[in-house]
Amino acid sequence: VEIEQSVREKTMSPPSGSPLEWLAEQAQARADDGSSRVLNPRAGDSGLIDFASNDYLGLSRDPRVIAAAIEATTCYGFGATASPLVAGWTNEHEMLVGDLAAFEGTEAAVVFSTGFAAVAGAIASLVGPGDAVYNDRLNHACLIAGTRMSGATLRVYPHNEVNRLDESIRRDRAGGRYRRILIATDTVFSMDGDLAPLVDLVDIANRHQAILMVDEAHATGVFGPEGRGAAAALGVAEQIDVKAGTLSKALGSIGGFIAGSKLLIDHLINRASTLMFSTALPPAACAAARMALSISRAEPWRRERATGLGDQLRLGLREQGWEIRASQGPIVPLIVGEAVAAVELSNRIRAEGYLAPAIRPPTVPRGTSRIRLSTSAANMEEQVRGLVHVIGRNEASTGQC
Ligand SMILES: *Cc1c(COP(=O)(O)O)cnc(C)c1O
Repeated sequence: VEIEQSVREKTMSPPSGSPLEWLAEQAQARADDGSSRVLNPRAGDSGLIDFASNDYLGLSRDPRVIAAAIEATTCYGFGATASPLVAGWTNEHEMLVGDLAAFEGTEAAVVFSTGFAAVAGAIASLVGPGDAVYNDRLNHACLIAGTRMSGATLRVYPHNEVNRLDESIRRDRAGGRYRRILIATDTVFSMDGDLAPLVDLVDIANRHQAILMVDEAHATGVFGPEGRGAAAALGVAEQIDVKAGTLSKALGSIGGFIAGSKLLIDHLINRASTLMFSTALPPAACAAARMALSISRAEPWRRERATGLGDQLRLGLREQGWEIRASQGPIVPLIVGEAVAAVELSNRIRAEGYLAPAIRPPTVPRGTSRIRLSTSAANMEEQVRGLVHVIGRNEASTGQC
């Protein structure tokens, strides 16, 4: 205990003059405004009912997915041992990208070690200084990181406001400001669960000769026919230049992918630094993702259940005076407001046996701290009823909903 104590003191106040002294000030500021975060380990079976994960189809624990991972591990070992262009690319990788391209209806696909790496690497290899990337204000951090990494100008348009986007690009084009323009958007916004206006975005991209890239991380496996994503659901899948997705959410594995033309994928294999200079995915992750993809296509009840339970949850919470906004599918954001209040509510829910995380700035804008609930095929109707009951009425609401 004594040692722990002295370690803690050391951690919280580095010797004066240390170049990292400013860390202590920042830690204090976080403690003061209630925004400190800690890693909360969970047990393999925590006993908590999960409304927190992105395992929308309940596939991460599916015995068939686990068996596929074990079989690939037995055959190849666990690690891929090298980057894809050196020696890390196995038959499992090759079969997976074949399946992904067939699923997405594109000529080709390639996988990266995470969705973050796929999106950031793709953006940074398609644009550079002298170009511009238009990002929706609520885009996931990896699109912003990719834009910064590329050296292109970062442009941000207000959430889903296509007229503002159209007008800005029109002025850029009239002024001859940029060589290439890339429009990049999440298709399902991760903290809000609403959809991007993809039909309008396709039209804007076409009219201004802009590249359109969509990130289907929360849509793959969940939205559209066979779970092919929000672009497929809205009938514009074939008009997207660059499609990004993740293997880490509904597919229950780990990794990210880009699907598109053969020319695009060849370019990424030759240019995307996050692919070239990072060890390839474990073969087991590829095998697990392939199995999950085939289950997802063959068992549509999974996405129907995840979405149906999302609808049930939205309805139940609205009836109790909570603001839910325009979410669709399994993501249900319960807006609380202040960070401290969101953490309190999350803790109260946890004490009743439900796992539901508080999401605070900088992940979401100030004043919109929330409980980000997500339903999955592994949840049951009575669990949703139980959760709604535990959350209770929104005391801050006027009561007239
Ligand atoms: C989760 C997420 C990612 C990152 O995917 P990982 O596979 O977890 O790295 C990328 N984009 C969006 C929109 C996401 O929600």
